[in-house]
Amino acid sequence: MPLRKLLIANRGEIAVRLLRGARERGLATVLAASEADRDSLAAGLADEVEIIGPPPVQKSYLDPAAILAAAQRSGADALHPGYGFLSENAAFADEVREAGLVFVGPTGETIRRMGDKAAARRTAAEAGVPVVPGSEGRVEDPEEAARLAGEIGYPLMIKAAAGGGGRGIRVVHDAAELRDQALRAQAEAEAAFGDRGIYLEKYIERARHIEVQVLGDGERAIHLFERECTLQRRHQKVWEEAPSASLTPEKREELCAAAARLAEGIGYSGAGTVEFIYDDRTGDFFFLEMNTRLQVEHPTTEMVTGVDLVRAMLAIAGGEGLQLRQEEVVLRGHSIEVRINAEDYRNQFFPSLGRVDHLRLPGGPGVRFDTLLYPGYDIPPFYDSLLGKLIVHDLDRELALGRLRAALGELDTAPVVTTAGLFSLLVEDPDVRALRFDTQWLEQRLPGLLEEAGAAPTETTTR
Ligand code: ADP
Ligand code: ADP
Ligand code: MG
Repeated sequence: MPLRKLLIANRGEIAVRLLRGARERGLATVLAASEADRDSLAAGLADEVEIIGPPPVQKSYLDPAAILAAAQRSGADALHPGYGFLSENAAFADEVREAGLVFVGPTGETIRRMGDKAAARRTAAEAGVPVVPGSEGRVEDPEEAARLAGEIGYPLMIKAAAGGGGRGIRVVHDAAELRDQALRAQAEAEAAFGDRGIYLEKYIERARHIEVQVLGDGERAIHLFERECTLQRRHQKVWEEAPSASLTPEKREELCAAAARLAEGIGYSGAGTVEFIYDDRTGDFFFLEMNTRLQVEHPTTEMVTGVDLVRAMLAIAGGEGLQLRQEEVVLRGHSIEVRINAEDYRNQFFPSLGRVDHLRLPGGPGVRFDTLLYPGYDIPPFYDSLLGKLIVHDLDRELALGRLRAALGELDTAPVVTTAGLFSLLVEDPDVRALRFDTQWLEQRLPGLLEEAGAAPTETTTR
């Protein structure tokens, strides 16, 4: 049955992106918004707005009952969870379906299987995809962790089984700090995800983060090539590219085929991303996790493949199946996305709140800006700092870098300080231009970069 009315259970730039995708297909739209988002850009664009609760996320965007009640009130027949919030909550996906709505995403069973990162490692290994050496499943107590760590070797990572967004991750350099770090990781995981579960992984130094976009309809799955997301701060991506310029065509094929095989093997339905850690000195790649949802950096894939991922998700959820064959997905050019966060990068990435009095957005050929901003927008203090994403596309990487530099120069959000200034520095950096970086590079380079630029020195920490 074709979908008629879509409820968007999210906020910010992704809510705007989803509204556009729904409207294009002729769907009526309902936005589930907190009281703080009454005047958001998405609220202005939606056909209807349902207020789901006060500003704190626990009482609004993370409250399944409030969202389901809004869905029932509005008569929506489908729900898109976006990313973050409840998007990878298996119980929520089940509840949405039990309430008679279409959940735009995979089944609760699939989310359960891949959303627990410790369990997902097992599934990947069973599908013949290499995983980072580490614990089999969760590690329950510090004594067990110490024993396993001895087998895995140092340095290693403690990760939250329910983790995401770089939270609940700790790097451990030797046995002396293991116990303490394991206890802290458990507490952090409990606070962030309501789940104390942790697991261990060998820490792969000098590595790249490369991830593969997949689409499936439960029967068949294909890949839409990869993204390189190696430039990170605190294990969170800040700059993403598609495709990865650090892969040979053979390695690209190997990696992308592994991701598609994994997705098809689990009967994956919808859009998903299989993340890998890649060592370009040895050519080894290892499965990290699967994100069973639309990803923040999905526009880079859209730019280089011409495939509209939101449209594909809605078509699959509406029962139309996967309309695309693998051979039809072709790479064209190069795309780069940078995350424009309301953070003062010169001052320890301190949140930068307030009213955007001046707003000038970049434009022109090959420039896309996905944002929640409008002139006069007052940034609420309750949510994450992502204001938008600047995405450029051009014939090759060198040209895309030039386009990125020019577009960054156009952006004005005064008086709100954003990370755009940091990207203007990075776009000129010889290592960035020559792809000479790994996942730790940005944190190490940051103090020097800021000093050279004459900004106040900043402190960076590795969690
Ligand atoms: P992606 O995996 O799509 O590249 P991230 O890993 O950066 O995106 O973030 C994963 C999800 O976690 C996103 O949906 C984001 O909204 C959410 N998230 C990221 N950082 C934070 C944070 N500091 N607090 C709360 N949620 C966050
Ligand atoms: P999240 O769910 O928070 O996205 P991930 O497991 O994807 O957590 O890891 C986040 C980031 O941490 C990765 O993109 C990578 O940079 C780094 N990382 C994760 N696992 C490893 C590892 N085993 N070795 C080295 N770096 C890692
Ligand atoms: Mg990840």
